[in-house]
Amino acid sequence: MTDRGLMNNTIQNPTMLDVSGLLRGEERKITFDVLLTPELDVDGIEVNTPTRIKGTAVNLSGYMELDAELTVEYETHCSRCLAPINRVMTHRITAPIAEALENMDNEEYIIPESGNIDLSELARETFFLNVPMAHLCREDCKGLCPKCGADRNEADCGCILKEKDPRWKALEGFFDED
Ligand SMILES: [Zn+2]
Ligand SMILES: [Zn+2]
Repeated sequence: MTDRGLMNNTIQNPTMLDVSGLLRGEERKITFDVLLTPELDVDGIEVNTPTRIKGTAVNLSGYMELDAELTVEYETHCSRCLAPINRVMTHRITAPIAEALENMDNEEYIIPESGNIDLSELARETFFLNVPMAHLCREDCKGLCPKCGADRNEADCGCILKEKDPRWKALEGFFDED
């Protein structure tokens, strides 16, 4: 059994992590650290720099596991005031690797195809599932005034926004019932 390292500049197709030796039990550890440009299609989010995924795939006496860290730098906008925001998402991925599953609905397993793990696809899926739905430029962002559109972080526009009396709110829907 051997250990093997896999770095970005030494492999031709960094998207695919060849784990066939691991599956056959000929290798016990593969180290990787690659930059990818996966298609990260999430509404309102732009990824303009390569995505990094680094980690190891190991075979511990037959039990195989992937342990990786995904780092994605992206641009988005504040959900309240629309200011541009740059964020970095770092997410740890740990999952057992299986050659095939009888029960295919077990999604926590990584199943290599023809001895390869598609790192690009893994990055895409992980990002999609873990990127926040909404972003705030800061925790207490006051947002834009719904009446005049002014950025209320910068100045109080002075608009009076009517809020419903909370006592009436409790009765909302009460009379709609049949
Ligand atoms: Zn904001
Ligand atoms: Zn206003």
